[in-house]
Amino acid sequence: MSAQLTPLPPDIRGEAFPILTAEQICRIRPLSKVRSVKVGEILFEPGDSDVPFFVLLSGSLEIVQPSLQGERLIVTHEAGSFTGEITMISGRRSLARGRVTSAGEFLEMSTVAFRTLVARDAELSEIFMRAFILRRVELINRGFGNVILLGSRHSAQTLRLREFLTRNAHPHTYVDLDTDTASQDLLDHFHVTLEEIPVVICNNRTVLRSPSIQELAKCLGLNAHIVASEVEDLVIVGAGPSGLAAAVYAASEGLDVLVIEAESPGGQAGSSSKIENYLGFPMGVSGQELASRAAAQAQKFGAKMLIASGVTKLNCERRPFELNLEGGQTIRARSVVIATGAQYNKPKIENLKKFEGQGVYYGATYIEAQLCGKENVIVVGGGNSAGQAAVYLSQTAGKVHMLVRSNQLSDTMSRYLIQRIEENPAIELHFQTEVVGLDGDAQLERVTWRNKDSGETSTHDIRHVFIMAGASPRTDWLQECVALDSKGFILTGRDLDSLTEQYHWPLPRAPQMLETSLPGVFAVGDVRAGNVKRVAAAVGEGSIAIYLVHRALAEL
Ligand SMILES: Cc1cc2nc3c(=O)[nH]c(=O)nc-3n(C[C@H](O)[C@H](O)[C@H](O)COP(=O)(O)OP(=O)(O)OC[C@H]3O[C@@H](n4cnc5c(N)ncnc54)[C@H](O)[C@@H]3O)c2cc1C
Repeated sequence: MSAQLTPLPPDIRGEAFPILTAEQICRIRPLSKVRSVKVGEILFEPGDSDVPFFVLLSGSLEIVQPSLQGERLIVTHEAGSFTGEITMISGRRSLARGRVTSAGEFLEMSTVAFRTLVARDAELSEIFMRAFILRRVELINRGFGNVILLGSRHSAQTLRLREFLTRNAHPHTYVDLDTDTASQDLLDHFHVTLEEIPVVICNNRTVLRSPSIQELAKCLGLNAHIVASEVEDLVIVGAGPSGLAAAVYAASEGLDVLVIEAESPGGQAGSSSKIENYLGFPMGVSGQELASRAAAQAQKFGAKMLIASGVTKLNCERRPFELNLEGGQTIRARSVVIATGAQYNKPKIENLKKFEGQGVYYGATYIEAQLCGKENVIVVGGGNSAGQAAVYLSQTAGKVHMLVRSNQLSDTMSRYLIQRIEENPAIELHFQTEVVGLDGDAQLERVTWRNKDSGETSTHDIRHVFIMAGASPRTDWLQECVALDSKGFILTGRDLDSLTEQYHWPLPRAPQMLETSLPGVFAVGDVRAGNVKRVAAAVGEGSIAIYLVHRALAEL
């Protein structure tokens, strides 16, 4: 069984489990009640929702996680310590059991009162947020989750489920059936055959055989706490950097906001191993870390977030607008921010689909790098994301062959990346080159590429190809609601000026910046015509859009 990271160092553990001062506890008292507790009393169980927040005045409380092998101790809280982890902020169900180990008195605070305290008290808010994030990191490090995923490195569905759990920062245990010989007992215990993998065991009870991410999210109750308002002030579609930024600003400025994400928070940026040009992160930051922090920040301010729930249609004939979700739910909203970004282009190569997730990948993160080990790999593309993937993979893989269709790296590639690629002996650049053949049985085994200049083809025993060949806007679900450019990107603001004959703009004022051809509906980030495909730009547009949403709502 594997855990991804190493345990927290002792100094960080102190910040994960701090002791509050008497003065800090005094500030918590007015919003809580004193509860006397007895030895053996269970205060919360895994799967409980709305678990209160406890501060120990005296006595002790152990936090354990039930597992198939019995209970695993996470931590024992003593006087001055407080309970909770990131579920206190996200509103999701508890992952652990809290049992009193010595009698005493605890302060007990409801989740609503806890949110009020966090909003009011900046110092306590910082202590709690830091502790909760670090506690979640600790759970992930130690594989202390309520999910066991049994899968194979040769299964595309296993990769998809691993990515989903990892991108949602959901602690889990991954059992690689290709290498873990002890796992047969687990399969026998749950009457699972090898043909049914990947298999997920949720909450030590429910067995899901090759589930979709929607089924997995449902089993874990990841959306169970979300109660949509009758009409939301704002619905944000997409939780990439632009949607998350919009959520942070909207919720912090008091709007009732629901974010709807088809997969996991983070979008394209979430598949980036390291973003080095985002302001304020001189050492770089992984897309996943940026997304987890942003999601926690938005939820801290009260944004609701539905994940693994794609919007299939916008009904735009009247206001409030209606959004149909996969699964049949309908959400109503006074205003909408479209932040659905772009999805990778798939070059026309025979067998591409067959090898997706089994040698062909569209993102280069820790999980994919692990699958490649020290083998040679191919990166297809000459833009920023391809460059970043090549540099990242060169740290662990053997040789990285970078195949670029044109005769140079993209004009838009950052200068620091170009230098790193050109000076890196582990990266071999092949210009005017494209993949023309993928072969193998279940797993990709051989790749053929062709030089467009000479017409020469060559076949190589390479089992891993990363395709980073640009992206197209995700606007198919919008049908005729808003004006698009010829490539399907959403037109906004002044770009609509020349199109006034093709759509009906009903208001005396012109469309605002970032506003689409439909008043009250905005588009931000990579889905917008004229976007610049950068995290900072997406975040900036998401933030600006909220100022404009306020103005549009005031018109209603
Ligand atoms: C590998 C890689 C590395 C990159 N590295 C950098 C970098 O170092 N620096 C930099 O500045 N930029 C980088 N970029 C570009 C940057 O990630 C994007 O510009 C940015 O993510 C765009 O953000 P977005 O929110 O507009 O869209 P996206 O990130 O594309 O997010 C859109 C979200 O909407 C969701 N969605 C789509 N359709 C629906 C629907 N119908 N219903 C609900 N949800 C939906 C998607 O699942 C996705 O989560 C990189 C991109 C990639 C792919």
